[in-house]
Amino acid sequence: MKIVVTAANGQLGSAIIQKLLQELSSNQVVGLARTPAKAEGLGVEIQPGDYNEKSHFDAAFRDVDVVILISGMDPPDMRIIQHRNVINAARDAGVKKIVYTSIIGAISGTTFSPIVASNRQTEKDIKSSSLQWVIGRNGLYIEPDVKYLDSYIEAGRISNCAADGKCAYTTRSELAHAYAQMALNDKHNGKTYVLAGESITQQQLTDLFNTAFGLSLMYEPLSVEAYKQERTVELGEFLGTIISGIYAGIRDCSFDVQSDYEAAAGRKHINWNDYFKLLAAKK
Ligand code: NAP
Repeated sequence: MKIVVTAANGQLGSAIIQKLLQELSSNQVVGLARTPAKAEGLGVEIQPGDYNEKSHFDAAFRDVDVVILISGMDPPDMRIIQHRNVINAARDAGVKKIVYTSIIGAISGTTFSPIVASNRQTEKDIKSSSLQWVIGRNGLYIEPDVKYLDSYIEAGRISNCAADGKCAYTTRSELAHAYAQMALNDKHNGKTYVLAGESITQQQLTDLFNTAFGLSLMYEPLSVEAYKQERTVELGEFLGTIISGIYAGIRDCSFDVQSDYEAAAGRKHINWNDYFKLLAAKK
């Protein structure tokens, strides 16, 4: 069994490699990176893997059984073509199975929807590729909120346009565990799994921070327009539009989805009380 993981230096790619190394020897796992030097220290062989260069994947996929394709970061139209480079190289090289990290959410209705739609297109491309496949639709990462905690404390509040909408969050570590299982076990072939923990509102998220860290943050709902303006000033047009679109999607309940995590991972997703308790214990 030989498994290749793309975007190996990224936070999800490197976490998946660490989980795979708990079950395989280091010569059975290869990491690909756009800039290989950025992936040094992962304990596995690293080769070039720029999504714009199909030839990188043609070379890296010889004698490989499973490819884990981590979704890219470029604008939606570009991503579809980049992902096709990986899928076509896998097919050409005789790879047996491809595992793809997709995303939950609605394909229309918010400024984040074009990204969701591009993920759905890659799902279709994979399903029509003749490869065996497994698709994970990732919940939203909770880690960015944790990273923002100091800013929330400074402001005394969490403000966004999600209102009372529930969101299925997850963590990269929980995703990595599930993807390792999905890559290693053929019983998952042909399945599309939603990978997330229990859905929570922004008020519940605020309460989790307050309980774990002894805070008294409040949750402040903003209008979609006001939040978009605020995020664009802070993050620029591209990212500000995407982030405000995500929270508009939470408001519309398009991220409130039933999780299949246990079926994919072979165990339950961490519950949010335990996750925040562990975080507070580490601080
Ligand atoms: P990350 O830590 O930012 O890593 C992104 C990875 O994508 C990096 O390794 C980056 O390589 C690589 N990449 C970007 N463009 C590439 C290209 N043209 N060719 C090869 N590699 C390329 O993100 P992450 O936490 O690992 O997340 C993985 C993916 O999940 C992201 O790429 C994105 O599609 C998606 N995502 C999901 C959520 C969520 O909430 N579920 C949030 C954000 C992103 P470089 O270091 O060379 O740039």
